[in-house]
Parts: sequence; structure tokens; C-alpha cells
Amino acid sequence: MFEHKPIYKRFFLIASLLIGLCISGVFLGLSLRTSKLLKGQALSGARAQFGAIVLTRKWSAQHGGVYVIKRPGMQSNPYLDNPDLKAADGRILTLKNPALMTREISELANREDLSVFHITSLNPLNPYNAPDAFEVQALRGFESGQKEAFLMEDKAQGARLRYMAPLLVEPSCLSCHSKQGYSVGQVRDGISVSFGIDKLSQALHKNNLIIAAQGGLTLALLLLTLWFFFRQMKLRLGESQALLLRMATTDMLTNVANRASVMNRFSAGFARQRRNLSHLGCLMIDVDHFKAVNDRFGHQKGDVVLKELAAIIAATLRQYDTFGRYGGEEFLMVLDGVDGKRLAEIAERTRALVEAKLATQTGLAEPMTISLGGTLVVPEDQTIDDVIRRADEALYLAKDQGRNRVVLLGLDLAKTADSDGC
Ligand code: GH3
Ligand code: MG
Ligand code: MG
Repeated sequence: MFEHKPIYKRFFLIASLLIGLCISGVFLGLSLRTSKLLKGQALSGARAQFGAIVLTRKWSAQHGGVYVIKRPGMQSNPYLDNPDLKAADGRILTLKNPALMTREISELANREDLSVFHITSLNPLNPYNAPDAFEVQALRGFESGQKEAFLMEDKAQGARLRYMAPLLVEPSCLSCHSKQGYSVGQVRDGISVSFGIDKLSQALHKNNLIIAAQGGLTLALLLLTLWFFFRQMKLRLGESQALLLRMATTDMLTNVANRASVMNRFSAGFARQRRNLSHLGCLMIDVDHFKAVNDRFGHQKGDVVLKELAAIIAATLRQYDTFGRYGGEEFLMVLDGVDGKRLAEIAERTRALVEAKLATQTGLAEPMTISLGGTLVVPEDQTIDDVIRRADEALYLAKDQGRNRVVLLGLDLAKTADSDGC
């Protein structure tokens, strides 16, 4: 009737699931946002490097390339028609055009373990400048209007950020590339920048770990709080339910079972008795001349008598007996597994006990007695009403015969049924 355990469990599971989803969503969003910021930072670095190399290149292109002293072992640019010239002092100078300058700066940066630059186009003059897969895709994208391309790749040597943006053909480019059909403003080249981002990767990883740990901790704390809250609620509700159950089944004056409860238990016993064919006895108890107590000593004194009477009888009950207030100053006792003899013994013992104790315990000078009408359930009884009606008849006879006595009816019927083996 008051079983709510599965509801608590379901509530707790659903609430935990919802909280878990919310927390995961919040922390996942946080993790993605931080990753985006860190990656954005790396991308800004790549853009800045691209800007620096483009600027350097532009400066070189504006000057038509720069001449440097040709040191021993230095190769002249084979893609230029006349790369070398002799200075007045006899030294040989060789022309470093923007493409060669970019390549050499890139090689230098690579040796220094810095960024790698690569100037490339889909149709390069120098095979060394041929694009790789990322660059080909990026260059194709630039041709269709894309402004930049980037990629984070995990290589055996570590994670790298690759960035590429287009170079517009400028008038100075035509001196070398006019043969290839270049025209000013076209996108034919691009510079790719690549550098190691292991530290960034580690920072991202660490960041994700910290966020996951924070998320887990927050979730655990919330679930613990929720569990504590549910536990408290369950305890309080359990107490309220117990109180409600007690109020619904107990007679508040005498503290024994109320009429509904005693009738329920009697009905259950009646159904069991039908299956087991064991005896079930019933005693209807009524206080003798109770009205006189109310009239002489007041209603409150009457209440005290009822309370004491209930306590005296309740103390004699066996484990499976049922006892409750039937109404007014009448009580009903249902006794499981008794035959006629035992029923008579219990009834007489109860009568004698009340006669001996009730007046003394309630401070009344004159003896307070009860009358009892009893019977056993017999096969002819269809419902407990049949049994109660017979017990009532017996009680009426007890009253009629002078009160303070026990009258039992229907025991012979029960005996007949028994001997018939029913
Ligand atoms: P009898 O021996 O024939 O049973 O006489 P009686 O006076 O006991 O019976 P009667 O039916 O005339 O009176 C019962 C009285 O019980 C009447 C009613 O006011 C009183 N009574 C019923 N319930 C309560 C109660 O809760 N408290 C008190 N104090 N009196 C109650
Ligand atoms: Mg009565
Ligand atoms: Mg009475």
C-alpha cells in the first residue's frame, strides 16, 4: 500500500541522468571552446609568420631580388637568365630572387628547428617547390576564392600546424613567370607555413583532462547532494506514511486496531481459514453498564475505562490474534487456530481478568465487568458478517442472562463439520 521504493529509484536515476547530461554538455562545451581558443592562438601565430615572410618577400620583389656575395660552394639560381655579376672590386655577386630567398629562409628555419616555409604553386618552375597533398588542395581552394587553409596533423615526429594562404601575382613576379602565362592579380602561388604544436597539443590534452576531472567532481558532488536529498525525503516520507498508516488503522482513544483494520484482518483470517480448514474463533466484547460510568463520573472517566480495558485485553493476546475496537464500548477479538474448548477458556480468562483489574486500575470502587459473546467460523458462514451476527446474538444472550459472563454459540456446528472431515 505504501511501497514507494521503485519510484524513488526511478526518480533518482532520471534526475541523475538529466544532471549527468547537463554537466557533460556544459563541460564538453567548455572543453571545445578552450580547444578552439588554443587552436585559434596557434592559427594567429601561423598568420603572423605568413605575414612576415610575405612582407620580406615583397621587399625583395620590390627591389627585383637582392644580390649577395657568392661564396665558395654557393649555387647560382639556375632559373634566372643571368644571376651572377662581377662587382668593381672583383667579387662575384649572385641574385637571390624572392622565391629562392623564401626557400633559403625556410631551410634555415628548418635547421634552427623553427617554422618551415614553402613557396609553391600548382605549376612550379623549380621541382623542389612542387606542392604536397595539403598544398595542392589549398591551392585549388585559392583558385576558387578560398582565403586560407589550415590543418593540424599528427606525424611520427609530433603534431604540426600547417597553414597556407595565397600570393597574388605582382608585376615583379612577371620577370620570372611571364613564360608560364601569369598575369598581375592572379592567384598562382601560395606560401605554406608549418610548425610543431606539440606543446599546444599537450596543453590541449592537459586542459581536457582538467576539464574532465572538474566535470566528474562536479557531477559526483551533485549526485551526492541529490542522493542525500532523496534519502532525507524518503526518510521523512516514510515517517509520514507510517504515521498515516497508524492513523488509518489504529483507534486513537484506545490505541488498538480500529474497526476497519480489525474487520480487514478478520476477512483475511476468514479467507485463510477457508483454505486451511483450521478453526477461527470470534469474541464480541461489551462493557457492562458503561453508560452509568459516563453518567456518574463523566465522559473522560469513561474514556479512561475504555483505554484501560483495551490495554488489559491487548496484553493477553497471542501472536496471531486480532483485537480491535468495534465501536463505542464494544471490542472484537479474532482468534486463530482455536477449537471450541480453547475459545471458551480464552473468553472466560479475559472476563475474569477484566473483572479483577479494570475497576482497580481505573480507580472505580465498584467492579467493572464485561460480557462476551463468541462463536467459531463454520462452513455455512459465507462472510464474516454471518460470524459477527452469531457472536452478537451470543453477546445479547450474555447480557440477557445477567452480564459479566460468556456465551458461545455454534460450537456444535463446528464440531459436526470437523468430524465430517471438512
Ligand atoms: P449494557 O450493559 O447493556 O451494555 O449497557 P451499557 O450502558 O454499557 O450500554 P449502552 O449501549 O446503553 O451504552 C453505551 C454507552 O457507551 C453510550 C455511549 O455514550 C458510551 N460511549 C460510546 N463510545 C464512547 C466513548 O468513546 N467514550 C465514552 N466515554 N463513552 C462512550
Ligand atoms: Mg454496547
Ligand atoms: Mg455496554
